[in-house]
Amino acid sequence: MNEYEALLRLQNIDIALMRHSRQLKAMPQQKKLAALDSAKKKLAGQLTKIVGQRKDAEIDVADSEAEHAHLLEVQGEVRDKLNSGETGYREISSIEQQLTSLAKKIEKVEFKHGEKMAALERAQKAENNARDLDRKLDEERASLEASFKKDSADIMAEVRKLAAERKQVLADVEPDTLATYDKAAKRFDGLAVERLVGNVPSVCRVKLQPSLFADLKKAGSITECPYCHRMLVTEEVAEQ
Ligand SMILES: [Zn+2]
Repeated sequence: MNEYEALLRLQNIDIALMRHSRQLKAMPQQKKLAALDSAKKKLAGQLTKIVGQRKDAEIDVADSEAEHAHLLEVQGEVRDKLNSGETGYREISSIEQQLTSLAKKIEKVEFKHGEKMAALERAQKAENNARDLDRKLDEERASLEASFKKDSADIMAEVRKLAAERKQVLADVEPDTLATYDKAAKRFDGLAVERLVGNVPSVCRVKLQPSLFADLKKAGSITECPYCHRMLVTEEVAEQ
């Protein structure tokens, strides 16, 4: 393949690849996948918060259980003292006061423990719900991906074919020409190369003055359009 033919084919391949890429992005599954990903991200943030709350609730419960155990221990010690029979009247009165106070404290801790257990259960339930939802989102994602894969199979086959051909075509394009093409493709959104048809460039369609036309004919088969600055193929080419 001549370099200018390769260049024109390269452009056609790239434009087709761009079109396929737009088609793939426009498929309904893509929109749903994006929405799903953002839902998953939001959920991950909530889950971090919920797990933090559950852990705090667990610490609360453990603290209250430790306090309860400690109070029971003290209560036992005080009772042992009372039952030892080695105490005088005054001491007995003081010990009974201690026991009354301990009983109140124990009652309070037990009451609060119930509240803390309820809070822990709520946090565990919220965490389970969030994890269930996360699993459902994963399942939905997998099924959307499968559906996308199925619906995009034809386009993907064409993309693979074009990509393979692109590799071959590149073998006939000089590195300098390719660098110019890459720059122009970016600048002109893919439409980087035009052909000279008669004395009119095929994209910008500004008729060349006779003197410019003569200059271009001498400049080689690939040059630059003096008007729009795209790459300009001046040789006759087979219609594509
Ligand atoms: Zn032009």
